[in-house]
This record gives sequence, structure tokens and C-alpha cells, in this order.
Amino acid sequence: MKLGKACETCPYRDRPGPVPASGDKGTAALVLVGEAPGEDEVAVNMPMVGQAGRELWKLAGAAGFYRPQVYMTNVVKCLPIGAEQGKYEPDEKAIESCVGYLKKEIQECRTNVVVPLGNVATAVIAGKWGILGIRGASLRRRLKS
Ligand code: SF4
Repeated sequence: MKLGKACETCPYRDRPGPVPASGDKGTAALVLVGEAPGEDEVAVNMPMVGQAGRELWKLAGAAGFYRPQVYMTNVVKCLPIGAEQGKYEPDEKAIESCVGYLKKEIQECRTNVVVPLGNVATAVIAGKWGILGIRGASLRRRLKS
């Protein structure tokens, strides 16, 4: 079952998903935004559960956050076309279709601390391409709905 009207014209409308976010918007102190779910996430219907997810939980813990404070989601909620061939980066049309759901999620979260993970999430959240260029930086940005 897809999320809404934007799904009707999305190139991923017949792909596995959507994978829902994990965490509670009401208790979130940190929002982590990945690019898109992979097969592991689709299989268990949760974001960031593979090796990268385990590393993220370690890092979040080391930064002083515990699980109920972390809200995890993705820019695109369905498995990208090409994931079976190892291409996980979502395409522009899917991002355009799905980004409204992400903006709504972020606006509904108690926190305004949002950490994008990877180039796609950085471009959507911070408006800049290239994670190395802004690594460690703190940016203020208003998300238009
Ligand atoms: S990727 Fe997003 S917009 Fe596209 S079908 Fe999935 S939930 Fe809908």
C-alpha cells in the first residue's frame, strides 16, 4: 500500500515498500535521513537495519542519544529501481515524488536537529551536493512544504 497521491505518478509505485520510519516524532531529539531502503530494510519493514544501521546506532549512542530519541527515515521510501543490481541511489523523479512525505515527517517531529546521511539526503535537506564539503558543519535551513 502506497502513501498517497504523489505515489500515483512515482516511478517506484510498483516497487517494494514503502518502508515506514522508525521512532516517535513526539520524543525525537535527532532525525536521521538516509537515501532509500535496501533489501534488508524492505524485508523487516524498518529503515537502516543492515551493517550501516548498526554503525549508526553505535554512533548515535556515542553522541549521547538513546533509541527513543532517534527518528530514522529515508528521502525515498520504496526500494529503488536497480537495487537488485547494486544501484541504491534513488532517481530524481522518485525523489521529487517522495520528498513531500519527508518534509511533512520532519515538520511533525519535536526536534529540528536533522542529520542527512549520504549525498542524496544532504542535497534534499541541506541544499548542497557532496557530503565531504559540509562534513561537521551545522547549517540552518527552513524546509518549505
Ligand atoms: S517512493 Fe515514495 S512517492 Fe514513490 S511510491 Fe514509494 S512512497 Fe510513494
